[in-house]
Amino acid sequence: MLIQHLENYQWENVPVLTYKDEGNHYKNITRRVLCEGLIDVPCQLRYFEIAPEGHSTLEHHQHAHLVIVFRGEGEVLLGEKIYPVQEKDVITIPAHTWHQFRATKGSTFGFLCMVNIERDKPILPSKDDLEMLCQDPAIAAFIRS
Ligand code: MN
Repeated sequence: MLIQHLENYQWENVPVLTYKDEGNHYKNITRRVLCEGLIDVPCQLRYFEIAPEGHSTLEHHQHAHLVIVFRGEGEVLLGEKIYPVQEKDVITIPAHTWHQFRATKGSTFGFLCMVNIERDKPILPSKDDLEMLCQDPAIAAFIRS
């Protein structure tokens, strides 16, 4: 498909999928796959949308993410800091950096996320990881797991 038209934040012929197949470490978030990679662009382009008060998984992994905020605003934990983000912001998430997106601003928060087709599985926080992260009170108040 060469052009996919967007209307009311729905692309033609792009189904709304569950965020992940398993787990309860996320809330109120959907996934759409806009591109499954091209012959010389081995990337998957996804669109994630988080309803108010929802969040993505708190995780890290070897593969990087390139994220562009597409709709609304929210907050992201990135490494050891929490950042407010809004439409058109570009967020680079390097390898093995803790990250979690939350729709904390009372509005729907949507973002495009590009990843390599071949990628490792996300690592979720252990009890020790959570203890370490929660040493910062701001992070302790922010994260959901
Ligand atoms: Mn991730």
